[in-house]
Amino acid sequence: MEAGRQDYNLLVIGGGSGGLACAKEAAQLGMKVAVVDYVEPSPRGTRWGLGGTCVNVGCIPKKLIHQAALLGGMIRDAPHYGWDVAQPVLHDWRKMAEAVQNYVKSLNWGHRVQLQDRKVKYFNIKASFVNEHTICGVTKGGKETLLSAEHIVIATGGRPRYPTHIEGALEYGITSDDIFWLKESPGKTLVVGASYVALECAGFLTGLGLDTTVMMRSIPLRGFDQQMSSLVTEYMASQGTRFLKHCTPSRVQKLPDGQLQVTWEDLTSGRENMGTFSTVLWAI
Ligand SMILES: Cc1cc2nc3c(=O)[nH]c(=O)nc-3n(C[C@H](O)[C@H](O)[C@H](O)COP(=O)(O)OP(=O)(O)OC[C@H]3O[C@@H](n4cnc5c(N)ncnc54)[C@H](O)[C@@H]3O)c2cc1C
Repeated sequence: MEAGRQDYNLLVIGGGSGGLACAKEAAQLGMKVAVVDYVEPSPRGTRWGLGGTCVNVGCIPKKLIHQAALLGGMIRDAPHYGWDVAQPVLHDWRKMAEAVQNYVKSLNWGHRVQLQDRKVKYFNIKASFVNEHTICGVTKGGKETLLSAEHIVIATGGRPRYPTHIEGALEYGITSDDIFWLKESPGKTLVVGASYVALECAGFLTGLGLDTTVMMRSIPLRGFDQQMSSLVTEYMASQGTRFLKHCTPSRVQKLPDGQLQVTWEDLTSGRENMGTFSTVLWAI
């Protein structure tokens, strides 16, 4: 590469909410901009397109599934308001998931079009730094590209964590990176964690009629107003979400019938307990 000559004024690593906003704004101000975005598949193999966490495995699919759950509640209430709704009302996860996933795919496409319209070059490559003005990008197939820019913005977001010290956690568990892309219903689910991601996932799963348990080590929504947090968990419990408080999982084993047997420690009594679930979702 010629010394001092850069391919772009601005190179953004990460095509999520932050990276895309930054790239589009800079392009609008006349900069020559490129975005590189690459999604490392989840340990379960789930992968998705341009747009980052919010679009693919966060805010957007989450809100659509909350909406599905809320509609279920409204349908159950409807007869009391005079609507003649045939009971029981059943929910088809497969149908919902297909619609959510198709909608997300349309957003992936929309983001690509928006970049193109603003003349922002998009590369589907995984970036690493070569020096302060240069990155090396690698495609899924292993092809390498060097790109240089006056300025490089890092907007790489974050990914869910697995408690890898727990036997079977990585092998049998899923995270929010997978739940929205499941083709089949997760069934009876244990959500481990007390983050907003944990509570929101447990909330919509309960709302869809699934047997859902939240296991938390200490307090819900650490860092949030605790009076509000209690209102949230009390409301969820009243809607059917089970809570295992002051408990921590120690092992996940797969039974011959495919169910997951979870062993946990009750930190209050010191006793070991067990339960069987179809899905274990880590949101720690
Ligand atoms: C279940 C869930 C629900 C949520 N709900 C809400 C909500 O309701 N409201 C809200 O405000 N926020 C919500 N969030 C949070 C929100 O999704 C994130 O704060 C936001 O997406 C972060 O944007 P970002 O641009 O920083 O990162 P991301 O959107 O994560 O984008 C980073 C991108 O960079 C890519 N990348 C990483 N490393 C490299 C590399 N080396 N080379 C190339 N590409 C790379 C990643 O694959 C990714 O595509 C939710 C999150 C989750 C998980």
